Amino acid sequence: MGTLWIRHADVIALDAAGTIHHDADLLIVDGRIAAIGRLPDDTQADEVIDAAGHAALPGFFNAHTHAPMTFERGWAEDLPFPRWLNEKIWVAESALTPDDVYWGAALAACEMIRSGTVAFNDHYFYMDRVAEVVEQSGMKAQLTWCTFGIGDDKEIGPGADAQLAFSWEWRGAADGRIRTCLGPHSPYVCPPAFLSRVVDLAAQHDLPIHLHVAESREQVDNSRQRHGMTPVEQLNALGVFDHPTIAAHCLAVTGEDRAILAEKGVFVVRTPVTYMKLAMPVNHVTDLAAAGISLALGSDGPASNATMDMLDILRQQVWLEKYLREDPEALPGDTALRMATQTGARAMGFGESGVLAEGRPADLILIDLDRPHLRPRHDLIANLVHSAQGADVTHVIADGRLLMRDRELLTLDEERILYEAEQRAFRMVNQNMNQVRQYEA
Ligand SMILES: [Zn+2]
Repeated sequence: MGTLWIRHADVIALDAAGTIHHDADLLIVDGRIAAIGRLPDDTQADEVIDAAGHAALPGFFNAHTHAPMTFERGWAEDLPFPRWLNEKIWVAESALTPDDVYWGAALAACEMIRSGTVAFNDHYFYMDRVAEVVEQSGMKAQLTWCTFGIGDDKEIGPGADAQLAFSWEWRGAADGRIRTCLGPHSPYVCPPAFLSRVVDLAAQHDLPIHLHVAESREQVDNSRQRHGMTPVEQLNALGVFDHPTIAAHCLAVTGEDRAILAEKGVFVVRTPVTYMKLAMPVNHVTDLAAAGISLALGSDGPASNATMDMLDILRQQVWLEKYLREDPEALPGDTALRMATQTGARAMGFGESGVLAEGRPADLILIDLDRPHLRPRHDLIANLVHSAQGADVTHVIADGRLLMRDRELLTLDEERILYEAEQRAFRMVNQNMNQVRQYEA
């Protein structure tokens, strides 16, 4: 894999001490960080990057998304959540093909790499096509087929067996860059018997679980009526949390729910832009953190967030919590940076990533600080959290491999991807609208 020598960067380590190495070098050997500090001028490397005027920091881990939903970006705006879902998203997805998934995920990968994301946790359909994109792009990912269960014996989508087959086929693929898990959609569309089957498979095959949990008070009320328990209590009773779990959202949880999530080590992922854009009532992330829950950040699908820019997402999370709490001290920037990097990495099973230190995987990005909106540099963390944009990212490195150099994508044919994705997105939406007209006729 060779050696890469990054010179003169301000290295934000995100270690326990919050170290920033000013004007430092990073030496990357065979995919890992071999040294941080000032290296001798006669250091040998296959490639040297002069990073003067740049910050180096861990790459972002987008811990909950549906990447191929780039196809619906900007197509279902200004609608209430039920209409957004029922009249637009689920109808459009009924026309989805495996090739659409490939090009939609490829478009997402271009956007993610350009804005500094090295890994994503994807929950969607035709996931072997998303895995191809991960393989080609050089990114890392945890992937799962989204599955539904309706009634106690009817499974929609590929079913638990096909989901398992995908997980086996792709687990550890792309030199270990791909991890897999099981992806029941949520307790509100998966009946208990289906969830129990998922738990059995997780136990037999040692697979983590990724699902949506407690997105609204209405879901909690329905769960209490149907099962006599909150969604979190029900998932706990079914044994879901006895396996490593990523629970997206948890917007409506009780104190007891928080205690369960903390005790079971469940990772909760928040997607703040989706909540604001769809005007969904939210609870305080700081209450979840105070209960001892590990919190990560994600974009959710680009149909609801509209971008996959993790710098924007972490900033919105910080602002949202300050605003809701009416407390500017509620969520410090350093905490949000860690949510967007190392906690996401741990949640997705890449626990060594998210910290720049010797021996760690070289999953990192460079951000150009020579930009008007990033001067003066009183406080590097404050500038990154409150002022930096995805477009300020110049270099992206995953496992020591450059995926973007000086804003040029090295692993993906961006021009072709932009063209194919847009043509196919138009076609999918038109097919869908023709179907709607037929239904109406
Ligand atoms: Zn989601």
